[in-house]
Amino acid sequence: MAKKIVIIGGGIAGLSAGIYARLNGFETEIIEMHSRTGGQCTAWDRNGYRFDYCLHWLAGTRKGAFNDIWKETGVLNDDVRIIDHDVHTRVHDDQGKSFIFYTDLKRWEEYLCNFAPEDAGKIKKMCGEMQKSSFLQPFSDPPGLRNPFKSMVSLFKMIPLMMIFMKYGRMDCNKYFRKLGLTNKTLLAFLDSIYGSRGFSALAFIMMFTWFNQKNAGYLAGGSLPLADRMTEKFTGLGGKLTTRARVSKIAVENNTAKGVIISDGSLIEADYVISAADGYSTIFNMLEGKYLTKKISYAYQNWELFTPLVQVSFGIKRHLESEYPTETFMLPDQMIGRTKTTHGYSIMNYYYDPTMAPAGKSVLVMRFESPWENWKDIDVAEYEKEKDKIRNDAIAILEKHYTGISSDIEVCDVATPLTDVKYTGVWKGAYEGFLPSSKNMMDNLNLFIPDLKNFYMAGQWLFPGGGLPPAAQSGKWAIQYICRDEKKKFLLQKY
Ligand SMILES: Cc1cc2nc3c(=O)[nH]c(=O)nc-3n(C[C@H](O)[C@H](O)[C@H](O)COP(=O)(O)OP(=O)(O)OC[C@H]3O[C@@H](n4cnc5c(N)ncnc54)[C@H](O)[C@@H]3O)c2cc1C
Repeated sequence: MAKKIVIIGGGIAGLSAGIYARLNGFETEIIEMHSRTGGQCTAWDRNGYRFDYCLHWLAGTRKGAFNDIWKETGVLNDDVRIIDHDVHTRVHDDQGKSFIFYTDLKRWEEYLCNFAPEDAGKIKKMCGEMQKSSFLQPFSDPPGLRNPFKSMVSLFKMIPLMMIFMKYGRMDCNKYFRKLGLTNKTLLAFLDSIYGSRGFSALAFIMMFTWFNQKNAGYLAGGSLPLADRMTEKFTGLGGKLTTRARVSKIAVENNTAKGVIISDGSLIEADYVISAADGYSTIFNMLEGKYLTKKISYAYQNWELFTPLVQVSFGIKRHLESEYPTETFMLPDQMIGRTKTTHGYSIMNYYYDPTMAPAGKSVLVMRFESPWENWKDIDVAEYEKEKDKIRNDAIAILEKHYTGISSDIEVCDVATPLTDVKYTGVWKGAYEGFLPSSKNMMDNLNLFIPDLKNFYMAGQWLFPGGGLPPAAQSGKWAIQYICRDEKKKFLLQKY
């Protein structure tokens, strides 16, 4: 008899765990509370338009351990078109000046040196550090299961990087830009606008541009939903059982051993192993009732900063809007949209590069801005509806400033708030990528296991500050590698 694994949550982490569990012969059931899989990696269709919520870039589109996972789980195959943008984002300030974050490091360096010739030396240093970081590759196996020889080789390859790790591992971008000695005030203001003003980790910033430069962090045509659908098909195609519209309320535990899950209707689904790939806070504090806290888990949930939730206003436009920039960010800190002051500005994304998002000759624009959880946590139903109307009207007025006359071409305007995200995925405080990668936690992560609870693993974005699709999928794979170890089975991968 095959042992049974129950997986809570059908997001990218849960789907990944499900696929590897089936590849290794476990009877596997994913329990998902929503009507469909994908979690944060999702999109929705309105009047022929598709509004994507997640995917802009996917680390591992070209090589490395993440690339293996995308191939193994069916996310990447020969039919999937990868799009590598030349520009990450163009930023505009309130003085009418603009600044481009290019993805190619040579081009960016040249652009930056022209922008701030007095800082050329420091700019070259920054871009050089990004180039050097290309040696960094994620480990393919989890801690404790790494082949010592392979680990030595990886570490050896990473020697040039050690200095960067030691220098910047615990530094945020604000300090990094100043430590580099950049003096051009406009350059500093633009760099700060996105990365330096949020406590964002310097190492995460460096790594991101390294991946872009390697063309190893592209966009997949079709976006988030087809990505999740390909994983779901792979899982069910391998014989995995998917139960949707079922919310897990408790993890059944006997003698400090996970025995299954209890659904909100009171029914028990028994299992030999439980993996929670659901929201981290709900897992620890609700499903396990806070009984298995470790010092580290408590510290992280009390002290690590969270991603600020987002409001997304999506527009279906009945005309074609060409652009050179997939994302434009407007740093207008005093702008109000609904009740939110856009302290970190707002961005407008144009999906011109993905024809699956709009009918021929039409376009999708998406406006996003951060809106603190405090704006939403106690809002009542009537107020909420009014707030959505206000956001819709304010967003259309802003769009009109950027694209004169566009109002009459707007066929659909859809508002998704932090509460929308919480409703469909249960994500804690609307923190859509979990813990913000900062100087405090960038070199840290939470374990997949809890020492005092047997036959239980966690997977998903809450284990790795910064979140994102690659760590989510990788932790699903790692959970199955640990279970294979526990079962004294060789971990198997299907040939792809
Ligand atoms: C706006 C936005 C942009 C993003 N852009 C990118 C990007 O460009 N690149 C990138 O790599 N990442 C990006 N991300 C992050 C990425 O989407 C997430 O980090 C990743 O999808 C998290 O996957 P997960 O499986 O860990 O968690 P989730 O997606 O949160 O999945 C958890 C699942 O568990 C289910 N669940 C929760 N509680 C229960 C319960 N009690 N019972 C049953 N089911 C339950 C939920 O419904 C959900 O399906 C973005 C996210 C957002 C929102």
